[in-house]
Amino acid sequence: DIQREAVHAAIEAVADRLVAEKAYLTDLDSAIGDADHGANMSRGFTKVADKVEELDGDVGEIVKTVGVTLVSEVGGASGPLYGGSIMHASQELGDGLTSETSVAFAEAYLDKVQDRGNAEVGAKTMVDALTPAVHSYKKAIEVDDLPPLTALAKAVDAAERGVQFTVPLRARKGRASYLDWRSVGHQDPGATSTLFILEELLAVAE
Ligand code: ADP
Ligand code: MG
Ligand code: MG
Repeated sequence: DIQREAVHAAIEAVADRLVAEKAYLTDLDSAIGDADHGANMSRGFTKVADKVEELDGDVGEIVKTVGVTLVSEVGGASGPLYGGSIMHASQELGDGLTSETSVAFAEAYLDKVQDRGNAEVGAKTMVDALTPAVHSYKKAIEVDDLPPLTALAKAVDAAERGVQFTVPLRARKGRASYLDWRSVGHQDPGATSTLFILEELLAVAE
């Protein structure tokens, strides 16, 4: 099955990237958090990659397992946000991976992250990378009628700007908010890992 192969390849690529960026994400989290974001993400996605290898089933079921695994392997703020939202959004993939279902997935994922984390854009969280990425993706497909690959490239650009946007912000959610104004000048770890994941999805799709 081509779609299943593609999803497996994407998960492998994301896991490899997060392992490679473990030290960098930990550095970012040590400045404004508890220095575990790199370990959390690399551990979680390594477990996901192991688990998915032995998994058939349709794309929605595979992606659901990604979410379930992240919830159980990654604690803290990011585990339930990433994992729970992926689990929820996986319901949108029942008809397989099409441009329509990918938009529905992206929107459901963003909705769930916002719902669970209750962070607005500007609170210096993953939402600051995710929101412009999802909006760009949806617009590229639904309004500009662009192919999914081009739409994904636009989402990556938007996420990149979102990550830069977090630097001057004062954190209002998560551990970084305990630092209040001392969080200013630092890049948000979760926004950064969101960008890395999107970059790998694009690289695999290309
Ligand atoms: P913890 O903060 O529990 O150690 P991680 O270090 O793995 O968890 O993840 C931290 C990241 O989680 C932050 O950089 C931020 O992007 C994200 N985050 C924290 N709280 C929220 C929230 N309420 N809404 C959205 N994202 C959040
Ligand atoms: Mg942390
Ligand atoms: Mg922690």
